[in-house]
This record gives sequence, structure tokens and C-alpha cells, in this order.
Amino acid sequence: MIKKTSISSKILIAMMLGLLLGSVVNVFFSEVAWLQSYLVDGLFYVVGAAFVNALKMLVVPLVIFSLICGVCGIGDVSVLGRIGVKAFALYVLTTGMAIVLALLIAIIVAPGQGFERVASVNAFIPPPAPPLTDVLANIVPSNPIHAFAEGNMLQIIFFVIVFAIAMLMCGDIGRELNQLAEKLNEVMMKVVTLVMDVAPVGVFCLMAKTFSEQGFGLIVPMIGYFSVVIAALLLHAFGTLSLLLVLFAKLNPLVFIKKMRPAHIFAFSTASSNATIPVTLQVVEQRLGVNNATAAFTIPLGATVNMDGTAIMQGVATVFIANVYGIDLGLGDYATVVGMSILASIGTAGVPGVGLIMLAMVFNQVGLPAEGIGLILGVDRLLDMVRTAVNVTGDAAVTCIVARGENELDDAVFNDPEAGVIIDIELPHKHPLENSG
Ligand code: ASP
Repeated sequence: MIKKTSISSKILIAMMLGLLLGSVVNVFFSEVAWLQSYLVDGLFYVVGAAFVNALKMLVVPLVIFSLICGVCGIGDVSVLGRIGVKAFALYVLTTGMAIVLALLIAIIVAPGQGFERVASVNAFIPPPAPPLTDVLANIVPSNPIHAFAEGNMLQIIFFVIVFAIAMLMCGDIGRELNQLAEKLNEVMMKVVTLVMDVAPVGVFCLMAKTFSEQGFGLIVPMIGYFSVVIAALLLHAFGTLSLLLVLFAKLNPLVFIKKMRPAHIFAFSTASSNATIPVTLQVVEQRLGVNNATAAFTIPLGATVNMDGTAIMQGVATVFIANVYGIDLGLGDYATVVGMSILASIGTAGVPGVGLIMLAMVFNQVGLPAEGIGLILGVDRLLDMVRTAVNVTGDAAVTCIVARGENELDDAVFNDPEAGVIIDIELPHKHPLENSG
């Protein structure tokens, strides 16, 4: 008899179990040295890190093949340009809305007033943020092989798009190459499925490691800051983005959020929108019904240039640190924070913790002490997990809106609760995973 088992439910259960076990280790066994070295820094670390590596392993080849198929599928440079401009403008707009919302909430709630700073300051020396001029000039790779090797997404996207446009201009040769890219893309999708099969184990270890190190205790002195960031993140995801989906894509946001679950779980456990690209792509294409031609282009772009959640953290952190240090910020400063957060969001890759580094750049501009970042360091990992989930939600929402405008969204797939064969697979009762457990 065939039993319907969904991989994403398994991953969700694994995530909860990891969170629970990690918290138990943190509360009761943090002093037990052998447990720390063999279990937390041993097993959990090795399996979790190997799993994240496996996800990252998928990103570059998947983006290359998928983007070639996408551009060739669109087939028209002017349409490609239109999609690119629309997606980019929406990414900037949603990030702007996110940061304004975060600033408003933070100014009203005013976290950090009367905060006891002395006991909890960590020394934090921020690494230098890259100058904006370099960020812009470096979108064009001087050596594409180097860009592939480094996984520099903006450079990869730039080169692959130029290459695929050239393929379009080459007639028959380009068509043959495209057929090959389609085959390779299909094989890569299979590789994604293989990695998904071991995802419950990987996610379990990632969560167990993070929570045995972090615990929830760290949150207590920072509860004001933490709650404001979380509230703004939730409001943006369930409020702003949902509203945009209803208004501009005529889509039910509840269905959207529900179908995003696999991408949320991966973003949450890896804290990296880049590593989550393979899952976001699959969710958007197979569960939300966006055509590959659009998604292959807008999802990697979004993972690189669109960080609504990160911008929200930066807005709240600015107000929080200003309150803690008793520094008054004027309207001009807030406008600078909005501009800088948008630029920071465009200029940085979706990897864990990068938002905090870019925060130093924002602080510099408005004259806040960079060492203030030390205060929020302790809770940043947990917030990073949540804001990464919001980052990928923004990527998917904008992709749906752009796809709707281009008539590239299949409502039948969007409304079909069973759609999404790769993430949610109908497994025979005795799946190999269950034997290996
Ligand atoms: N971890 C975030 C991401 O990958 C970036 C950040 O806010 O640090 O999207």
C-alpha cells in the first residue's frame, strides 16, 4: 500500500526536534565537555555543515542552466529587459517599504530606552564594508570563471544573461546549445531531489547545533529589540507583501504563504537566501505556478539584491542603538538609513550574518558607534534565521507579481494544493530514508 508522506512535513518535524534537542542541550548540558565536542561540535556540526555545502553545491550549476533556459525561453531581449527592470524596481520598492515600516514601528515602540548597556557590551570591530562604487563596477566580472568559482551571484547572473542573449543571436547553434542546457537543467533538478531526500537529517543537525549554542536565554535582556524586529518582519511578510500580492497579482496570500513552507524551512535553518535558491526556485515554479523563464531570472536576482528582512533588522537596530547611546536622529538621518539599507541590500550576497556587517556601513553614515553592533550580536543568529525567511518570501512575492504581469503564472498550479512534485513527493511506505534511520 502506498502511504502519502510529504518530505516537507518530515523536514518540519526534523526542524522542531532539532530545536527542542538543541535547547535541552543548551539548558541542561552546556557544561558537559564531551557532549559539546562530540555531539554539538562533532556530529551536529559535521552533518549540518555538509548539508549546507550540499545546498550551495547546487546553486551555481542550477542558476547557470536554469538562467540559460529562462533567457532562451523568453526569447526576446526587449521582454527580458522589461522583466529585469520590473523585478529590480519591485525589489527596491519592497525593500524601501520594509525599512520604512521597520523605522516607524521602532520609533513608536522605542526599544533600547533605559537599556542597561554596561554589562552586555561585546567588543565588536566591524570588517570594512565594500565601497559602493566597487560594488557597482564589480557587477561586470573581469573573469567569469573566477565568478563561478567564488559563487559571486551578481557577476554570474550578468555573464550568463549576456551569454544566453548571444545564444539567441546565434540561430541554430544557440538552439542546439539550449537543448543541451535544458537536458542539463533536468539532471540538476534530479540532483536537487537527491539533496532534498537527506534534508530532514541536515536540517535537524543545523537546528540542534544552533540552539545548543544559542539557547533562548540570550533573548531575555534584548527582548525589546528582538520583539520589534520580529513584529516588523511578520508585519511585512503578512501585511505588506500579502497586500501587494492581492493588489498586483490577484493571488490569495494565505495559499502563497502556505506553499512557501519548504523555502521558509530552508531559509530558517540555513540563514542563507543563496543556499535556499534551489528550494525557492522549485517552490515558485512547481508550487506557485510561475513559468521557469521568469523564475530562473528573478529568483537568483532576488536572492542577491533583495533583502527586505535584512533591511528591517537594520532599521530597528539603528533606532535601538541610537536610543541606547542617547543619540538623537533627525529626519535626514532616517532618510539616509532608508537609502543605505536599500543599497546594502543590493550590494551584499545572501549569506549568514552579512546583514550585520552591512549595518556598520549604515551606522557610519548616520554617526552611530559601530561597536554598538556588539550589543545585538548575541541575538543576531536567531534573527538572521527569521529575516532570511522574510528575504526569500520577498523574492517569491515579487516573482509572482512580475509573472502575473507577463502572463507567466499558471493559476491552476497555484490553486492546486497537491502541486509541487519534487518537494512533496508521494513516497512508497518503505522509503529508503526510513530504513536508514
Ligand atoms: N542571512 C541573510 C540572507 O541570506 C542576509 C543577512 O541578513 O545577514 O538573506
